[in-house]
Amino acid sequence: MANTSEQSSAILSRVSWKLPVASKAEGIYIDLQDGRRLIDAVGGASVACIGDGNPTVKQAIKDQVDKLTYVYNMQLSNEPAEELARFLIAESRGAFSMCGFVCGGSEAMEAAIKLARQYWFEKKQPQRKNFIARHLSYHGNTITTLSLACNVARRAPYEAILDHDNFFHVSPAYYKRFCKQGESEEEYVQRLAKELEDKILELGPETVAGFVAETVVGATTGAVPAPSGYFKAMREVCDKYGVLFILDEVMSGMGRMGTLHAWESFGDNTPPDIQAVAKGLGGGYATIGAILVSKEVADGIRDEGGIWKHGHTYQAHPIACAASLAVQRVIKEGGLLEQCRVRGEYLCSLLTKRLLAPDSITAPVIFDIRGGGLFWGIEFDFDSNKAERYDFKGKQFALLVQERCFSNGLVIMAFGGCANLEGTKGDHCLLSPAYTVTAEELDKIVDTFARSVEETLREYVSA
Ligand code: PLP
Repeated sequence: MANTSEQSSAILSRVSWKLPVASKAEGIYIDLQDGRRLIDAVGGASVACIGDGNPTVKQAIKDQVDKLTYVYNMQLSNEPAEELARFLIAESRGAFSMCGFVCGGSEAMEAAIKLARQYWFEKKQPQRKNFIARHLSYHGNTITTLSLACNVARRAPYEAILDHDNFFHVSPAYYKRFCKQGESEEEYVQRLAKELEDKILELGPETVAGFVAETVVGATTGAVPAPSGYFKAMREVCDKYGVLFILDEVMSGMGRMGTLHAWESFGDNTPPDIQAVAKGLGGGYATIGAILVSKEVADGIRDEGGIWKHGHTYQAHPIACAASLAVQRVIKEGGLLEQCRVRGEYLCSLLTKRLLAPDSITAPVIFDIRGGGLFWGIEFDFDSNKAERYDFKGKQFALLVQERCFSNGLVIMAFGGCANLEGTKGDHCLLSPAYTVTAEELDKIVDTFARSVEETLREYVSA
């Protein structure tokens, strides 16, 4: 990321030893210590769903600080945690019957895996220990979640200490990149369902605990929704062999796709047995994640006399739960899911009109503009015969665009280096602003983004 600030950072960062320092934010605007103002077009990587500084949420946090800051969740529950759980269960319209609160996305996915494993342990099927996830996926930064997911760049330094015995992978659901010549979406989905079934049979159905997928892939391939019928088909395979169906909605859930849960945005409406959520749950006001659990799984554990065998000190933290509850009420009472859908359609129309304009220099290098709600990926492709020749000097184009956007005052997200299957470079940018973003702000975001893409292309045209 470009950094014109001279301040050096004393905290470890995964991007640079020297990051610009933010001092204030309001809505989608971030003020830096050095006086610059940025527009956050990606909601801090899809977290800030209602923007910064919401007065209702700030008040809820203050009120909770005055009432109760902490109790140890091993000994006591607390009011905001109970209320948040009841809210989430009620809003799921029967899909979930219990919640567990943790501190973020990786913890939520770790907890989802552990709960699935515990379920089989309690059900006296301890041989069910294998998990099947997908290539080109990301489920978190802990050793288990890195083992589960398949993001080559993020796994690389840790490959030697990852768990290769219990985690297996099948193809991602990415029709535009990986369909065969002449293959329809329906045939593609059938092929993937057969691949999952074959993998379950190869491992032995009695050994498989769960199948895990991001409902809409976030970091690795950039807001790629699965083709229609995919989740229904995968769920059917899981049900056939009693395998738990686990969705990771850490990034795509809690409204990001214009529906509370991302799986509700697909026609086949397939709720999972266990679901992880995080980013949009607290909207950046709280470090919180959750697992949402179906009645069957919750009862399965309870009926066997089990309790949730998972305990972090800061689980179900009262202030985090109070903040999160306030965020969720702001979304519900403000009609922000509907607004997210409407603004998302507008964002898509702006991106398409500007980047794919027939006479533009951007159209030939755009592979795909895809997504839903306010979760949009723009993928580039320089492999086919293009009119211009570019030399990015070994850098990934999307990362250069991210730098250029930053110097033009726009924060976007580019994900680099995740090519682990032939046919994709992971060369894409993500836009996922707050659901409160206005149409005028979207005009500005798309204008700055497109201008940054154009400027980057012009700079790197080879002689
Ligand atoms: N799962 C998905 C799909 C994510 O996108 C992320 C983070 O980007 C995680 C899990 C990990 O969440 P966290 O960074 O809060 O640990």
